[in-house]
Amino acid sequence: MSITQGLPQDFKPDTYDALVIGAGYAGAVCARRLAEACNFKVAVLERRNHIAGNAYDYYDEAGILVHKYGPHIYHTYNDRVHTFLSRFTEWTDYQHKVLANIHGALMPVPFNHQSLKLAFGEEKGENLYQKLVATFGQDKKVPIMDLREQDDSELEEVADYVYENIFLHYTMKQWGKTPDEIDPAVMGRVPVFIGDDDRYFPQAPHQGMPKEGYTRLFENLLNHDLIDVYLNVDVRDIMKLNDTTITACDKPYGGEVIYTGALDELFGFDEGALPYRTVDMVFETLPIDHFQPVGTVNYTVSENFTRITEFKNMTGQVVPGKTTIMREYSRAYLPGMGETPYYVINDPDNIALYKCYRSRVEKLVNFHPVGRLAEYRYYDMDGVTESALELSDDIISHH
Ligand SMILES: Cc1cc2nc3c(=O)[nH]c(=O)nc-3n(C[C@H](O)[C@H](O)[C@H](O)COP(=O)(O)OP(=O)(O)OC[C@H]3O[C@@H](n4cnc5c(N)ncnc54)[C@H](O)[C@@H]3O)c2cc1C
Repeated sequence: MSITQGLPQDFKPDTYDALVIGAGYAGAVCARRLAEACNFKVAVLERRNHIAGNAYDYYDEAGILVHKYGPHIYHTYNDRVHTFLSRFTEWTDYQHKVLANIHGALMPVPFNHQSLKLAFGEEKGENLYQKLVATFGQDKKVPIMDLREQDDSELEEVADYVYENIFLHYTMKQWGKTPDEIDPAVMGRVPVFIGDDDRYFPQAPHQGMPKEGYTRLFENLLNHDLIDVYLNVDVRDIMKLNDTTITACDKPYGGEVIYTGALDELFGFDEGALPYRTVDMVFETLPIDHFQPVGTVNYTVSENFTRITEFKNMTGQVVPGKTTIMREYSRAYLPGMGETPYYVINDPDNIALYKCYRSRVEKLVNFHPVGRLAEYRYYDMDGVTESALELSDDIISHH
């Protein structure tokens, strides 16, 4: 692998069998597979000054490994994804835990046995818990809608508490919505866990953090003789699409193009911009060993940020006397201003607009949109890896 800043003057797209736009999971996984399985020479074009997309991590001035674009916790149920990624990293045995800060009290999320006792007091909490066990059984995840359907005032009280204190205000901050704009179906799915396990992903068979970080994972993933990476390259400067042809550096390009950027942006937003939520991530290094007991604390009823992450608690890094935390402030994304679009807003109008853009690339048989931006959908890291594995299977089967 070579990594070059910018494109050389004599860059010739047609010396590559594939152009991959974006060096996040979607792009890097496809690049590696096409290089390995098809002996393709691959150019990865990335407009940021680093690889790894939104999973990028780096050591800050205090020497603490932080995640630039928000905390990333790896977990998957998919053996193929795990086997593939495990070629490029070892994993720690980190198990993610989340606490909600409710008026200063820290309670496990999803709401569980311990949370009930913290919220309602030892005796009442235990009685409510026993009632939940008797009604639904132990170690069950039950949506609060099911609690309401029992027509039992005590269980309704639990449902109301969870709705108000865990879900409502947090969702309003996260999505910038008023209570009546929140879909009741989503609200009903908020779970209570009838048990003591306080892990956030108790069922995930594979879970942890890459031992040397995500950026190192990507260095290994892209480290192949047939892959060249070009950073600080916005592909819109060299690539144009029409209904049937892709032009790169002013010449028709007939190789495979894996595109992991946003489609509306590629077309200059000419049918309108796809909306997103963005997040302002504010980092702070403190002169203490630890700030909070777990990786992430959600502020579900107070403050104007949504959560605080303490990176050392997730990575297991030992750095005495200092720690870096990050607060997340969620707000509407302003298109075309260089902001990071983080979360798609999944409503029918936006999906219809996305489909308009998507229909404009359908006839381009060598143009493959993949990933969270190009598909306008939320993916976890394992989901996007799975999608990239499947796309590359498809391309490999045609070569
Ligand atoms: C705040 C936050 C927290 C998250 N936490 C988790 C988590 O805990 N666990 C989990 O599994 N997942 C998490 N995710 C999801 C994870 O970030 C995504 O699954 C993953 O980043 C998707 O990879 P991707 O390759 O599709 O996109 P990206 O990582 O965004 O990569 C796309 C790349 O394309 C580049 N690009 C775009 N346009 C152009 C262009 N015109 N020219 C050149 N390059 C371009 C971009 O710069 C970017 O680097 C989180 C997401 C967010 C927003």
